[in-house]
Amino acid sequence: TETSETTMAPSETASHQFQERTDIRNVAIIAHVDHGKTTLVDGLLKQSHIFRENQQVGELIMDSNDQERERGITILAKNTAVNYRGVKINIIDTPGHADFGGEVERVLNMADGCILLIDAAEGPMPQTRFVLQKALELDLKPIVVINKIDRKDARIDQVMEWTQDLFLELAKTDEQLEFPVLYAIGRNGVAMHNPNDEQVNLEPLFETIMRVIPAPRVDLEAPFQMLVAALDYDDYKGKYAIGRVVRGRLTPNSSVARITRDGDISRQKVNLVFTNRGLGRVEIAEAQAGDIIALTGISDANIGETLTDPETPEALPTIAISEPTLKMS
Ligand code: GDP
Repeated sequence: TETSETTMAPSETASHQFQERTDIRNVAIIAHVDHGKTTLVDGLLKQSHIFRENQQVGELIMDSNDQERERGITILAKNTAVNYRGVKINIIDTPGHADFGGEVERVLNMADGCILLIDAAEGPMPQTRFVLQKALELDLKPIVVINKIDRKDARIDQVMEWTQDLFLELAKTDEQLEFPVLYAIGRNGVAMHNPNDEQVNLEPLFETIMRVIPAPRVDLEAPFQMLVAALDYDDYKGKYAIGRVVRGRLTPNSSVARITRDGDISRQKVNLVFTNRGLGRVEIAEAQAGDIIALTGISDANIGETLTDPETPEALPTIAISEPTLKMS
């Protein structure tokens, strides 16, 4: 661990150490509808059990997968967590379109990197351009996956050229132009570094995520703080506030300060705390900074609000909202 120089007020950093959560990766997935996101994530879930010793977890994941299917829920309606060799990869679904409310930014803000999934015949689509632009503005590390290279009408070189052009236009730094590219047939559960490589499994994609997406660097001892990035609801437990724990820890039944976007502070009580596992959620006894969690008990929580330690309530910065640009590339 190193002493941190970034993101926190000096008074806060003085006595604390930033820690690298090498057991976590947070990656957003950006794809145009039908480019194969659901199929690819399904493949990552199914293959994750190959790469771990504990077979049971893989089976559990596939069970919950089937349940989701039966209920007809899109698997990426919620975030998905995939375990790869003991590392939890949180896969964050992004809205596939431009929006004007800052929703895209807040969702992307939970991630440290992104997978841009592109159909090998269709190429990059204008609707995903806005989301990629936001991802690059937030300095997420990109990975490009050219998918469906088995299509008869695949035009890999042309699609790569369009993708390069898109990055040339949107990248904020030269570093963002040095993204890794993988070629995939999501439907067959394979990803390759070169289109003609032997088709084995999705390990090249898992490995690239591990290598390219930075592990969260967090202060676990600082007062708890998270930004509500999304909401969910079910009839049994009511409203779930979803977000990434920016710093500190959270246990069930603890008091938090809820800070509205207008700056109003109220003291409230968290009920249960969950983390993602596979397509489902599991209750946990303690959430730690770096992870993406869902919590119940804050029935009036809204997107964009901060939940934080009640003794030292400090709002997280509201994410700047810029107008979407929808012109064709
Ligand atoms: P999503 O809308 O991005 O989630 O896309 P889906 O995963 O639902 O896939 C859209 C369609 O593309 C489905 O009919 C899939 O069977 C098909 N598909 C997915 N992956 C591949 C692939 O690697 N090759 C081909 N040819 N088709 C694929």
